[in-house]
Amino acid sequence: MSDLGTAGTGAVLRLLLDGQPRTRAELIDLSGLARSTVTGRIEELVAAGLVVPSGEAASTGGRPPARFRFNPTARLILAADVGATHLSVALTNLTGDILDRSTMPLNIAEGPEAVLSAVVRAGRALLRSARRSVEDLAGTGVGLPGPVEHSTGRPNHPPIMPGWDSYDVVERLSRELAGPVLVDNDVNIMALGEHATEYADVEHLLFVKVATGIGAGVISGGRLHRGAQGAAGDIGHIQAPGHTERCRCGNIGCLEAVASAAAIAAHLENATTSRDIVELVRAGNTIATQAVRQAGREIGTVLAACVSLLNPSVIVVGGSLSQAGDSLLAGIREAIYARSLPLATTDLRVVTARSGQDAALRGAATLVLQHQLTAN
Ligand SMILES: [Zn+2]
Repeated sequence: MSDLGTAGTGAVLRLLLDGQPRTRAELIDLSGLARSTVTGRIEELVAAGLVVPSGEAASTGGRPPARFRFNPTARLILAADVGATHLSVALTNLTGDILDRSTMPLNIAEGPEAVLSAVVRAGRALLRSARRSVEDLAGTGVGLPGPVEHSTGRPNHPPIMPGWDSYDVVERLSRELAGPVLVDNDVNIMALGEHATEYADVEHLLFVKVATGIGAGVISGGRLHRGAQGAAGDIGHIQAPGHTERCRCGNIGCLEAVASAAAIAAHLENATTSRDIVELVRAGNTIATQAVRQAGREIGTVLAACVSLLNPSVIVVGGSLSQAGDSLLAGIREAIYARSLPLATTDLRVVTARSGQDAALRGAATLVLQHQLTAN
């Protein structure tokens, strides 16, 4: 069985996801379902290994009632973070905790067959060392460094991924892996991961990735919003006011052409990558520090429009350039507060991402969890 439970077990399973053991009576109360329905669903979940008996509750007279709890290692999730020049693969349990991982250098430009074969190989190796099989997978979540059409999981005109346009990632991985395959862009999975690990109780959050490119993931009402096709949050190609720099997308003045690591590095000596810029800033280089702060202001100006539209309570700044520390954040804050109405910024926090490398892997696992545990 590749799906978790069957239609209808979801409501009972969701009540147990917090790890608390519960009795049948408690599950009936909480779900509002009939006793026979709850009993049947518990039986199905126990048969699938997703729920296990967990001792007995205190007796109120007569035989003490049995309790049941969620079994987070009944199945595993394969999470893959495919970057421009690296591949990270992890096994997680059904609460998204990373059990084991591996990372290797890999160029996305080698094309989908080479890269996705590497995902399968790395996944199988992790399963072997965990003494589990492909059939134990509840699903696979994959993050790719380019636009992904949400309904099909196919990359859509990805600028740095030659050979990947419209490639059927889901079909390729499903040939060798059990369970559903979910694909999303890297910024969305980082937003999901950061939200799940650090801000689970925050309803409205904007995650902004500042690296070679610039993009955002939108969490609204506690859920990731992808828009009609999956392009929501692609703020890197909003025009930065007053700019005419040519962007790789063909337009002029895009935020990405003005404030990304690549754009900043083009104006600095001794810098070509985010890491070079971060090192210059950390070494106290004034020109680099000012360039990063100005990039922060440009990003903040575009984010001020997003704040007016979405009214988030937290803006998380991640991606490799966020390691440059306070200068980027200071520039972003400066522009947002100057351009937003007081009500929208009263409780707004603008912070650096905390979950780091794990955010993408956690987010890829979250794609599967949300599909599997909330669908039924
Ligand atoms: Zn552009």
